[in-house]
Amino acid sequence: MLRFASLGSGSKGNATLIEAGPDKNDTRILLDCGFSVVETENRLARLGRCADSITAIVITHEHSDHVVGAGRLSRKYKIPVWLTVGTWLACKDNNFFATHFIDSHADLYIDDLLLHPFPVPHDAREPCQFIFSDGKSRLAIVTDLGSYTPHILSHLSRLDALLLECNYDEQMLLNGIYPHSLKQRVSGRVGHLDNKQSTQLLKKLDLTQLKYIAAMHISEKNNHPEHALKALCEGVGCTNNDVTLATQKKGFDWLELL
Ligand SMILES: [Zn+2]
Ligand SMILES: [Zn+2]
Repeated sequence: MLRFASLGSGSKGNATLIEAGPDKNDTRILLDCGFSVVETENRLARLGRCADSITAIVITHEHSDHVVGAGRLSRKYKIPVWLTVGTWLACKDNNFFATHFIDSHADLYIDDLLLHPFPVPHDAREPCQFIFSDGKSRLAIVTDLGSYTPHILSHLSRLDALLLECNYDEQMLLNGIYPHSLKQRVSGRVGHLDNKQSTQLLKKLDLTQLKYIAAMHISEKNNHPEHALKALCEGVGCTNNDVTLATQKKGFDWLELL
């Protein structure tokens, strides 16, 4: 069984829990830790989990909304951290309890979970995103990328669940309050995916096995949750009720793939 939940998603902090196995004692991975230790503990408690039961922290890239609490949480609870060498070098606080390096083109096991990393175009040192599998179901988490490559698309077909970035609405970003340079950064090839790009990406995939789709990393200033929902519905060919929304405050509650 593969289980997953979001502690929160957006530019103020990101963290996702992924678990394999039938009991609470099985492999439990925290993907990114973009909240303070106290905030992470509180959000874990909301999902019925304790930080001392986390098997590993896996980090996608060094931006503070993904790593700010990782060092302290790792040391406080003696949790090992997995990340690319580039991400490790670029992290301000990289003195983890234990450090394991990821090759972003090589699969790896962390206990019962198989991780399949793939590099993404994003303005970080060596960013990657992941597909998680318990040997039966496949869950992909795809955020923080300015564009999608054939290599990325080749990994995303026949997924059981996809957590996909819908960062901004093109018009809202264009007309919004961000300075010109930041608008260029967000919308650039190594920035973030907008709603339209997410729809296009979905239309290129074989989604016949898809059971869950979630909208992630939605900008509070440059997007509306309704726009993100509409984009994913259009890409998948489903209704609003079939799409999970990851919010900054609450993320989303446990979802299960049996
Ligand atoms: Zn981010
Ligand atoms: Zn980022």
